[in-house]
Amino acid sequence: MAEAEVATSVAGSGTGAEAAGGPSELRVTADNDTCVTSSLCVFRLPQVFDQDEEGRVVVLDSRPPAELTRELLRARRGCPTRSIHVEGPGVPPASTD
Ligand code: SF4
Repeated sequence: MAEAEVATSVAGSGTGAEAAGGPSELRVTADNDTCVTSSLCVFRLPQVFDQDEEGRVVVLDSRPPAELTRELLRARRGCPTRSIHVEGPGVPPASTD
């Protein structure tokens, strides 16, 4: 299984957790072995997800700010192959989606 996780936060860039003033407690990963390139997650959260040259999911920000939790859970629920994984405080298990 290949977990696609590419953190693009650059020191001083002001993106993701740094912009919120502290480290994010969310952790986002995606399984690009099961991704079927539907683009739904990219459409919903382009600041967190992108696609590689084959259309498979790439996680741009594995530690997004907590205010994106609701949209992340929608993206997880909307993924047709359940390839998106979100962990963190208050995040219900995927089995409840
Ligand atoms: S929604 Fe799921 S299947 Fe579609 S691009 Fe994202 S990870 Fe891949």
